[in-house]
Amino acid sequence: MKRVALLGATGSVGRQAIAVIAANDELELVAATSGSTPIDGLAPLTQTGGDPTDLLERAAPDVVLNATVGFAGLPGTIWALEHGVPLALANKESLVAAGDLALDARRRGGTGPLIPVDSEHSALFQCALAGEPEALVLTASGGPFRGRSASELSDVTAADALEHPTWSMGAKITIDSATLANKGLEVIEAHYLFGLPYDRIEVVVQPTSVVHGLVRFRDGSAVAHVGYPDMQVPISYALTYPERAPTPVPPLDLTSLTIEFHEPDVDTFRMLALAREAGERGGTFPCAFNAANEVAVSAFLDGRIGFLDIAALVEDVLARVDGGPARDLLELREADAQARELMETVWA
Ligand code: NAD
Ligand code: MG
Repeated sequence: MKRVALLGATGSVGRQAIAVIAANDELELVAATSGSTPIDGLAPLTQTGGDPTDLLERAAPDVVLNATVGFAGLPGTIWALEHGVPLALANKESLVAAGDLALDARRRGGTGPLIPVDSEHSALFQCALAGEPEALVLTASGGPFRGRSASELSDVTAADALEHPTWSMGAKITIDSATLANKGLEVIEAHYLFGLPYDRIEVVVQPTSVVHGLVRFRDGSAVAHVGYPDMQVPISYALTYPERAPTPVPPLDLTSLTIEFHEPDVDTFRMLALAREAGERGGTFPCAFNAANEVAVSAFLDGRIGFLDIAALVEDVLARVDGGPARDLLELREADAQARELMETVWA
């Protein structure tokens, strides 16, 4: 029996994780958290809101699945890494923001397995089992606005942006997919997961989201991971690693597939370039990028700013933060708070 603590149980990944756990006799849900919706009775230990650290101490799970959204996922990620408890990580924002501090926590914890749930990184993790990666290729669907020019994006609404062509996900990541901020966060996530420099992390658009990732090797070959876009697969893989459990996802019908690759349009979708730049600058720039983006996305969802304002405001904030490295989580939280405050200033 593998005892699972699920953080963010009411979300898109959280609900699919509950289905995966229910379908597998070897997985047991021992603790669950949510942001605001009560979840009494969902698991022996539950909590709504607040820091999950005490709950995790009491539950002593065999694996933590962090499916919280945003920087709020930080304590769960750090707790698992610091205790050497296997971490199935959907909450990319915590790894992006904490970066080196998260890897330090993992070293202190004795490097328990860190298995990505993000589909692209799950794919890369599996491809990397074939050899030492020379370069990583992340695929992007391109989102609902692929092919549009900036002038065609000036008055798109949150409802337009929430119509994702291939994946059904929570609101925040769906907006991030429309701006390509999600792919930017994923570039930084890949840097910390796989330890490769940014110039060896590529992004390519693959509109049908069938090729999830690709690892290049030094002999000129590359291994790709393919499958239907269904999060149950990476969730199940991370929870049952190193084994594989069956899922209800059907085998690929190869002759029905269309697979094309395109260059991403980073001039129109500037969040990808801004994220890459923040990643390359290091320190707390990725934390600031993430914080500013979280504030901008929530303002866009509320109809308070336009779609193109997201990148403009984030760029402004990144130009103003000091970006120096955080020595501990307190300093990291300060960097996060500073970027959020600056966001309110550049707005005015
Ligand atoms: P969601 O918005 O559907 O769900 C988020 C969950 O986090 C909910 O259970 C919510 O109650 C909880 N939560 C929110 N604020 C919280 C707080 N302050 N403290 C504790 N819990 C809080 O989000 P999602 O789409 O399921 O995404 C979750 C994470 O997984 C994100 O980091 C996202 O980037 C990543 N991810 C999601 C998908 C997907 O298919 N949805 C794919 C890849 C990666
Ligand atoms: Mg992804």
